[in-house]
Amino acid sequence: MMKSTQGTNCVVCSTREAVVLCNGCEKALCTHCRTFDIWNHGCGSGDVKAFCPTCNNDPDINIYRQPTKNQ
Ligand SMILES: [Zn+2]
Ligand SMILES: [Zn+2]
Repeated sequence: MMKSTQGTNCVVCSTREAVVLCNGCEKALCTHCRTFDIWNHGCGSGDVKAFCPTCNNDPDINIYRQPTKNQ
């Protein structure tokens, strides 16, 4: 469920209007400061998550964040 961010400024840069809430800490984020990540469930489907820079790099929050792996 997406909460409305209308009228809220981005918590990170506080200059742009927020468009999404961080899936970790629920801070309001603008298009510039959010980081999208896709949590794959296999079979080509996945949830698109938006994270602030802090949560995106926090393996406790972004549990699908993979350390650089051999490909
Ligand atoms: Zn921002
Ligand atoms: Zn966050």
